[in-house]
Amino acid sequence: MNGCKEQPAVVIVADQDAAGQELASSSMRCPSCSGGSLRPWGHARTRVLRGLHGARHTLRPRRARCRDCGATHVLLPCHAPPRRADTLQVVMTGLLAHQGGAGARTIAADLGVPVDTVRSWVRSVSAQAQWLRERATRWAFRMDPTHPPMQPTGSPLGDALDALGHAAAATARRVPRPLTAWQLIGLISAGCLLAPVASTLSG
Ligand SMILES: [Zn+2]
Repeated sequence: MNGCKEQPAVVIVADQDAAGQELASSSMRCPSCSGGSLRPWGHARTRVLRGLHGARHTLRPRRARCRDCGATHVLLPCHAPPRRADTLQVVMTGLLAHQGGAGARTIAADLGVPVDTVRSWVRSVSAQAQWLRERATRWAFRMDPTHPPMQPTGSPLGDALDALGHAAAATARRVPRPLTAWQLIGLISAGCLLAPVASTLSG
């Protein structure tokens, strides 16, 4: 079970087209009841995400509905954090710059985003750094049981980003799929990188 409030409304998918095929063949399971199969249910509204260097990414996520429990879900590609205006590549670039000592104003200017947006990324990830670190650490060891122990970086946020990086690298070594590190981090964090972790859920 995922641990953030985005679930079960959002299902993070690696590939929109493959997800569409899974829906069409009724082979995607409902995360709400964990048993029902999902079927196509139109699309969510079109969004435009900011990418790096002024790029714009238009997004029209699929929606799905469970045959059993009736819950509806938005299938969000893994490069798109739920309810945010920037791609995960932009967010992670900003977070890594923060971890490297850059100030919020500098990061905002470099990425072309509002300074409050940068501060909200740092706040959100810091608030659930432990959950992210634990989830990413488990993920990394599942992908690579011989993975060496992770070393403390000196801050909870740094530890979380470090663990996510290790988990993404371990996945890239194991899974022969052309996904970027940012997409892998989207999958690993299950859409919860910037979302509050629900107090009733864990793991
Ligand atoms: Zn269901």
